[in-house]
Amino acid sequence: MEAKLQELKTRLMEVDDLEHANALLAWDQTTYMPPGGAPARGRQMATLARLAHEKFTDPAIGKLLDDLRPYEESLPYDSDDAALIRVTRREYERNTRIPSAFVAELNEHIAATYQSWTEARPANDFARLRPALEKTLDLSRKLADFFPGYEHIADPLIDFADYGMKAASVRAVFAQLREQLVPLVQAITAQPPADDSCLRRSYPEDQQLAFGEAIIKRFGYDFNRGRQDKTHHPFMTKFSLGDVRITTRFKEDDLGYALFSTLHEAGHAMYEQGINMAYEASPLAGGTSAGVHESQSRTWENIVGRSRGFWQHFYPELQKTFPDQLGDVPLETFYRAINKVERSLIRTEADEVTYNLHVMIRFDLELQLLEGSLEIRDLPQVWHDRYQADLGITAPDDRDGVLQDVHWYGGLIGGAFQGYTLGNIISGLFYEAALKVHPEIPGEIAQGRFDTLHGWLKTNIYQYGSKFTANELIERVTGGPLRIEPYMAYLRGKYGELYAL
Ligand code: ZN
Repeated sequence: MEAKLQELKTRLMEVDDLEHANALLAWDQTTYMPPGGAPARGRQMATLARLAHEKFTDPAIGKLLDDLRPYEESLPYDSDDAALIRVTRREYERNTRIPSAFVAELNEHIAATYQSWTEARPANDFARLRPALEKTLDLSRKLADFFPGYEHIADPLIDFADYGMKAASVRAVFAQLREQLVPLVQAITAQPPADDSCLRRSYPEDQQLAFGEAIIKRFGYDFNRGRQDKTHHPFMTKFSLGDVRITTRFKEDDLGYALFSTLHEAGHAMYEQGINMAYEASPLAGGTSAGVHESQSRTWENIVGRSRGFWQHFYPELQKTFPDQLGDVPLETFYRAINKVERSLIRTEADEVTYNLHVMIRFDLELQLLEGSLEIRDLPQVWHDRYQADLGITAPDDRDGVLQDVHWYGGLIGGAFQGYTLGNIISGLFYEAALKVHPEIPGEIAQGRFDTLHGWLKTNIYQYGSKFTANELIERVTGGPLRIEPYMAYLRGKYGELYAL
């Protein structure tokens, strides 16, 4: 058994090497690669993805998993070896259903579509992307059909990102949340908007960068095992547990733009940096689901990074960094500015209260596209119609409409968005659980200290990587299933105070 387990680990390490070499190519593609590198890069990434897929779906791995079943069954459920075999089997069964040629075609198509999007979005040219997006929809449907027996065609795609969730279960949770969010948004937006002009002064990029990096260092993001670079659409990526990188972008006339994105991506990265090093180069060495991942980015960005206590401590430092811009701005004005609630067009810049409405629009549109009740050619207009209906505003163009998010142009249609709102809900659950054990956390945050919160998250969430599923983690930490109440209580508490509701 020992020899078989070792052989499995060695094979998985080779797969992991290929996947992370590919991740490095993807990171380079979106940070430093000159445009001329695009055609070859698409091919190179497709080749590596194909090799990784071939190695992972090698029948020898299936044989090892079969041989190791008695050993797995002799172990407790929460043993690392049992988890490795269990999670590998789940991934193996999923991957062996997808032909290697399909994986190569999909990856090459996505790389080319992403490159077109980087040019088409600034040019506001949806028409140019339409054929590519039609092919993406076609390939997304084909991918789902490798998993027959689903209730909804989106189910297999949702399951890739948020294992254990389905279109129906996500819809049910979203409907509950929507019912409570819409009146909250109405009550807040009925009041005069917060004045956020203090954020729109001129903030030199270098100082923004230095301030953001100083904050995430204090959070516990480890720069010896990470770095930050510039890109179009910020993301976190990992090449090993010793190299977990983040990216950001700047607007000199918008102080919150880079800062909160940096806190967000650092939250993702701290999750990965917190994984047990013994899981390195195995399927356990990654966050367990899109939703749990997003719960961590949103915890550090919002629950911590937009809290009153946090800025009681850090605002004087920010004022020292930008004395001309913020010297005359009281803390309360700044706090209200960074928590301004408004019906806006861009998801990534949306406030905590309206954010989930943006996500629900995209989730619904993905389901409609996959069902065939919505055609790609009608997507830009339907996007505008939904924004008008749900948020009461319409974008002036497609650049800030259907072209704004990278997801459909750099990935599949389906499974891409539900994780954001699941993440918000889960952030509320986990934070409430942390406070139950450590009621001193908010007081520590107000002193610029994060070790108790970070430590609790490492112990209860981060270290496990993918050992437990999202639902298992939630059950272990909260003693019950996913529920929206702690998140809604957090929103009501914070915004009730801000807007005297
Ligand atoms: Zn995120």
